[in-house]
Amino acid sequence: MTLILLTLRLSLLVRLSALAMVLVGLMAPGSTAYARMSKISIYEDSLYISETGRTHLRLQVNVKSAPNVFFMAGDKPRIVIDFKGAELGKALVKQADGKTYFAGSGGITKLRFARRGERDIRFVADMAQGAKYLSHSYANEILEVVISYQDGSKDVSPYTVRAGGLPTPRLKPGLRVQTRGGIPVPRLKTSRRKHFVKKPIIVIDPGHGGRDPGAVGAARVIEEHVTLKAAIELRKQLLAGGKYKVVLTRTRDIYVDHDKRVLIARKAGADLFISLHADSLKSSTARGASVYTLSSRAEARTHKIVKGQNWVLDVDLASTSAPVGNILVDLAQRKTLTRSERFSDILIPELKKSSKLLNNTHRRAGFYVLLAPDVPAVLLEMGFLSNPQDEKLLNTAAHRKKLMKSVVRAIDKYFAQ
Ligand SMILES: [Zn+2]
Repeated sequence: MTLILLTLRLSLLVRLSALAMVLVGLMAPGSTAYARMSKISIYEDSLYISETGRTHLRLQVNVKSAPNVFFMAGDKPRIVIDFKGAELGKALVKQADGKTYFAGSGGITKLRFARRGERDIRFVADMAQGAKYLSHSYANEILEVVISYQDGSKDVSPYTVRAGGLPTPRLKPGLRVQTRGGIPVPRLKTSRRKHFVKKPIIVIDPGHGGRDPGAVGAARVIEEHVTLKAAIELRKQLLAGGKYKVVLTRTRDIYVDHDKRVLIARKAGADLFISLHADSLKSSTARGASVYTLSSRAEARTHKIVKGQNWVLDVDLASTSAPVGNILVDLAQRKTLTRSERFSDILIPELKKSSKLLNNTHRRAGFYVLLAPDVPAVLLEMGFLSNPQDEKLLNTAAHRKKLMKSVVRAIDKYFAQ
């Protein structure tokens, strides 16, 4: 079992040297995140860096895969951080002194942790009333969550509160850990709070990628390439109009988990999520584009996924109020579904101007990527790779351009309403 330590360090230098040391010790060839459990340990703590009205929660983790981070607004605002394939190290338990939480600081009142199921560890940062999630980033195996809160006093301590209760020097402002691998920092928005000045955020999801190539046509046109090219074209057109911000769930030929795609949309504060795909059937006769929105049957599945994935969840089972959670999801989703359907109704006639359409163009299904409860989402099957004519068209830049123009027109109409 690979020992992977979660360290919370005093200073940048100590952090980096500690990280280097741990990395040297842990570079096990051929190890994968799925096959092994990471042991999460805290042996030195500088959990928080506080400044006026802001708290930075920092966890240094030698784990390849980014944790899932959720902000949950409401009466008890909190941030949930899930590490997959991890277990609590003895040192962490010891550090917490038999408790299952660390004391808070600034806008964080408490940092709780617990095992979740067999394979996951969850942290929950309880936040002060009125505290808000601003952003989080995960780079260089360091998770930093930034929240804002109403700061009563102007007297900012030059010390951070550490879990053991003893003060440690805070980092100089502006001193940041370098990023590696260009992991993007999510936007500082929570969903559904919109202002007129804000540009709508469109998240484009090129289907498949990496070890998941998707459909392959008779002429060897591969879905993952078509979807990426179309997504990049769509982004180009949207940005040219200057009216939107655009986020892609992938910009290269890499594999991205479905739940990660949904997360990217949520974290970006997406106003619209468009997943691009190319269809395939055994028969080569079916042609044309189609649009999918979430089916009501899939809603039931959403509830399961909401439970499993913790859109609405807590660390303490006792304090989890599942009925309330479900109601919130219902409300969010009903609105979301209506908006998804509305966009679909606008999109289809626009597509008709540039493409053949499949019969029953508007379809409803339980595609995973459509399941984010609070982001209006559609899945556009741009045509059939199993059909030679469609395959040829989808492989043509001019056709993709035309097709994406239709999508842009639909987006313009949708947001003009
Ligand atoms: Zn697909």
